[in-house]
Amino acid sequence: MSDHQQPDPGLCARCAFVHRNETRKGTVYWRCTRALTDPRYPKYPRLPVLSCPGFVRTDAGSAAQDADPAG
Ligand code: SF4
Repeated sequence: MSDHQQPDPGLCARCAFVHRNETRKGTVYWRCTRALTDPRYPKYPRLPVLSCPGFVRTDAGSAAQDADPAG
């Protein structure tokens, strides 16, 4: 039933500093935990995040792809 178009989170989807929260209605929020200690980062980044100096790729999950498809 949830036809909501979820925004592409970009880099946040694979970042070690993201906290993903999904509501019962299926809305997904991506919260940057760097924002807790560093005011340069928004608590809820504008998506998609295409470039971020704080990005650290998480190794959780499958064999990861690099965040730089253009090389
Ligand atoms: S550090 Fe950057 S890429 Fe990582 S969660 Fe925060 S905004 Fe997203």
